[in-house]
Amino acid sequence: MSKIRGILLFWVALFGCGTFLFAENNKTEDVKQKKDTVKALVVDNCNSIFDDFTNYTGENIINVIDSLLNCKAISKEWMQKLNLYIENYFNEPENAISLSGFYDDSNYPSGAFYKEWNTSHVHPEFNENDLEDSVTLVLTDVSNFCHFVMPVKGEITSHFGWRSGRQHAGIDIDLNVWDPVVASFDGMVRFAQNYKGYGRVVVIRHYNGMETLYAHLHRIKVKPGDVVESGQMIGLGGSSGNSTGSHLHFELRYKSIALNPRYIINLKEEKLYSDTLLLYKNKWSYSAIPKGTKHHTIQKGDNLYEIAQRYGTTIKRLCELNGISRNSRLVVGKKILIGS
Ligand SMILES: [Zn+2]
Repeated sequence: MSKIRGILLFWVALFGCGTFLFAENNKTEDVKQKKDTVKALVVDNCNSIFDDFTNYTGENIINVIDSLLNCKAISKEWMQKLNLYIENYFNEPENAISLSGFYDDSNYPSGAFYKEWNTSHVHPEFNENDLEDSVTLVLTDVSNFCHFVMPVKGEITSHFGWRSGRQHAGIDIDLNVWDPVVASFDGMVRFAQNYKGYGRVVVIRHYNGMETLYAHLHRIKVKPGDVVESGQMIGLGGSSGNSTGSHLHFELRYKSIALNPRYIINLKEEKLYSDTLLLYKNKWSYSAIPKGTKHHTIQKGDNLYEIAQRYGTTIKRLCELNGISRNSRLVVGKKILIGS
């Protein structure tokens, strides 16, 4: 694959500087006009190649790119299309982690990725070297009735991100005291007790290595080692710990790194964006990208207006999808969702 990528990048580098018209010395106006007509025809032909180049995979794409050599002119628009396609096509990590982690040699889910099964620490310890640069996580397995369920149905009252000078590592979902809170995926309870500001909190380890956390519970209804299915009640909602009103604080983590639920769950429709999640390490954490959704890696000098134009979307939509405002600072190297 790296060889193919190398060849592609070579061609992209060759063509990637904008519009290319191979030098021609036109002697008379007539000849120039004639050549322009020919050029237009060639452009039309090439256009038809590009109309469906996204249907090509693997080595076939090389033939398509080779055919660029026969084009007299390559428009900036095509180059942009091709660059976007290649960026998305090759970005998917190959080390997919399935839901079968439970069936390795350990007695707990995903033993291959975690050194220990610790029932007294709310978050497992990891150092920088334990984190992969990129990971593909399989989230659900429909054939084994393993699916996603919202832990509680209610209004999202606070999102993931910086809040009053502190990182809010999850989302807050409104509920009434005694409302049932359910497991969002199949897994095994790892932690279930009172813990500092979280109050009464349950942490479930899932078979793909992800963990979900349910905090401020009024009552805990499970204990470490319990195998739970998605949709199964694990506790009753409340306001225990550092909380000003009854709500569920819900976190999604991979190897202790908090992921932004907004990038994984379509919170309006209360379902996953995709059955497969791609994680990319960035400076501080992981960017989570649902498979099949377009994304853009922030480059120096990028702004929302330009990104929206480039991908044929709107600033409003980008802000909604990514939970950012028009004035949010774009961090170079971070990935933002463009949509499907
Ligand atoms: Zn919260």
